Amino acid sequence: MKPSPTYLDYAATTPVDPDAARAMSECLTSEGDFGNPSSTHLYGRAAAARIAQARAQVAALVGADAREIVFTSGATESNNLAILGAARNSAGGGRHLISARTEHKSVLDPFRRLEKEGFSVSWLTPAGGGRIDPQAFAAALRPDTVLAALMYANNETGVIEDVAAIGALCRERGVAFHCDCAQAVGKVPLALHDLPIDFAAFTAHKLYGPKGIGALYVREGARGLLQPLIYGGGQERNLRPGTLATHQIVGFGVACEVAARELPVEGPRIERLRKRLWQQLEALGGTHLNGGAAPRVPGILNVSFEGVHGEALVGALSGLAISTGSACSSESPEPSYVLRALGRNTQLAQSSLRFSLGRPTGESDVDRAAAEVAEALTRLRALSPARAPEADEVAAPLVSGEAGGPGADTWVRFHLLIAGDIVKEARFQAFACPHTMQVAAWLCGALRGRRRQGLIPGTPDAWAQEHHVPPEKLGRLLVVEDALRACLTHWSEALEYGDR
Ligand SMILES: *Cc1c(COP(=O)(O)O)cnc(C)c1O
Repeated sequence: MKPSPTYLDYAATTPVDPDAARAMSECLTSEGDFGNPSSTHLYGRAAAARIAQARAQVAALVGADAREIVFTSGATESNNLAILGAARNSAGGGRHLISARTEHKSVLDPFRRLEKEGFSVSWLTPAGGGRIDPQAFAAALRPDTVLAALMYANNETGVIEDVAAIGALCRERGVAFHCDCAQAVGKVPLALHDLPIDFAAFTAHKLYGPKGIGALYVREGARGLLQPLIYGGGQERNLRPGTLATHQIVGFGVACEVAARELPVEGPRIERLRKRLWQQLEALGGTHLNGGAAPRVPGILNVSFEGVHGEALVGALSGLAISTGSACSSESPEPSYVLRALGRNTQLAQSSLRFSLGRPTGESDVDRAAAEVAEALTRLRALSPARAPEADEVAAPLVSGEAGGPGADTWVRFHLLIAGDIVKEARFQAFACPHTMQVAAWLCGALRGRRRQGLIPGTPDAWAQEHHVPPEKLGRLLVVEDALRACLTHWSEALEYGDR
C-alpha cells in the first residue's frame, strides 16, 4: 500500500484537536448537554453554561471580552456580516469603501456586491515589500468613506499587514474598520483591545476546531454600526439569530484554549520548520520566496519555481497534499492576483506552491516534502528542457518557432530538424499545463516524416478530442498551433533566402 501523502495544507484546514472532539461529543446525545441553550430548564441552562465557557475561551485567545464575540458559521459569514452589515447600515452617511485586491474571496465578493448596490470601492494593491502601504491607504480615504477592510494575515503568502497603522487612520477619520483574522488567530499573539479594530473575523477549522463555526468580534460600542444579515430569535444580540450550535461552539472554545496554551512554543517551532523547508527548496535553484520581505505568520511558505507549471508540479507531487496558488481549471483560470501584486510575472505566479505547516508537522515531514519537490523538479525540468538542441548536436538544419512568449500563461517552442522538404526530428520546449505538454509531446512524434506542405497534423479541436483535453483549455492548444505556424513561416523564409 502507498503511504498516505504528507499533509502540508494546514492553511486550508486543520484536523480537530482530540480534546475539542471529545468536548463536542459531550453535547450531542441524551447523556450529554444536548438542550437548547435558549431554554430556561436544567437542560437548556447546562448547554448555555457550556456556551458561556466557550465564548470566554474564544475571547481570551484574541484579547477581547466574551460579550464582544458573536458566533457565526465561519469566517465567510463573519466577513459578510461585518462588511454588508456596516456598509448598508451607514449608507446614509456615505457610500465609499476601501479594501485590497489581495483579500480572501469572502471579503472581495461582499464588496463587489456592494458595488452593485451603488457603493464605490477603492481597491488597494500591495507596495513592493508585499504589504498595503499605510500612506496609500491614507490617500484613498475620502470624506464619504464609511468602512475599510484589510486582512491581518494573507492566506496565500502569510504576509502580515500593518493593521495597527491602518486602523489608526480609520479611527482618526471615524471610518469603521474590519479585519479578517482567519489566518492569524492562534498563529500569532492577538490582542484586539490594543488594536484600532471594530470588527474581526475568525474561523474554528483553521485552528484545530470543527468546520462550520466561527465568530465575529464586534468591539464594545461598535454594535450600533451593524445591521444583521438574517432575522429570527434574537440570539447573539440580534446580530446572528438562530439556535446556537452547542457542540460546534464548544469544540471551537476548547480549540482556542489549546491554541492559547501552545502558541508560545508552537509559533517558534513552526517558524523553525518553515525556515528549514525554505533552506532546502532554495538550494534547488530557480526558486523564489513570495512575500519574503514582509513579516509573515510562522506556518505559510509560498514559493515560485522557474520553468515548471504549478499544475504539472502539483500533479507530480503525489506524496504531498499541498495547494497551488493558481489552479489550471475553469474555476480559476487566472494566476494568483496576490502573487502578481507582489511583482511576479504570470509564469512565476502560475508556478507557485503554498506549503502550510501545522501542529502535527515535524522535521521528517518537511524533509520528505523537500526531497519530493527536488525529485519532481528534476523530472519536469528535464521534460521541458530549458535549452534548445545545440547546432553541432544535429547534422540537419534546424527550424524553430514559438508562441505564447515568456511570462505568459502558456509558452511553446518547437524545433524541427529538417532534411530537404521533410521533418527528420521534432522537439519542443514549453511552459505549460500537463495537457498542453502531452499534446506537444504527441505532436513531436506525429511531425516526424511529414512534409512542409501539410506540416500541421489536424486541428486543435481534433487534438483536444484525441487527448481528452477539457474544452476550457482549448485556448492553450491554439498557442501550440501558433508555434507550429511560426515554424512554417521560418521554414519558408529559410528556403526563400537560400539558407543552404
Ligand atoms: C479560510 C479563510 C476564510 C473563510 O473561512 P471559512 O470559515 O472557511 O468560511 C476567510 N478568510 C481567510 C483569510 C481564510 O483563510
